Amino acid sequence: MMRNVYDFNTLQYDSQLCSGCRMCTIVCPHQVFEQNGKIAELIHPKDCMECGACQLNCPTDAITVDSGVGCAKAMMIAAVKGKKEPTCGCARP
Ligand code: SF4
Ligand code: SF4
Repeated sequence: MMRNVYDFNTLQYDSQLCSGCRMCTIVCPHQVFEQNGKIAELIHPKDCMECGACQLNCPTDAITVDSGVGCAKAMMIAAVKGKKEPTCGCARP
């Protein structure tokens, strides 16, 4: 069941679909997700800036978010690297 846990943004996460691949914890620039045992947990949902990287990288469609302009840095990195879709990692070194 899709959970809508707050009203601050459009991010929704269905933990029942999570396979625990950790991609959302890796690509999210604001550490919105954290691995909790075998699945991801939404720990800072209010920090989501709707870049869309988690949804793009989630293999099980456990995450949905209406991404607007997205993360500008991720888009620039993707363009430079010739990737079709940006994978945001702007908070990572
Ligand atoms: S990317 Fe999707 S399947 Fe992978 S840990 Fe995050 S929510 Fe789960
Ligand atoms: S949309 Fe972007 S900021 Fe929001 S949770 Fe997903 S990766 Fe993080």
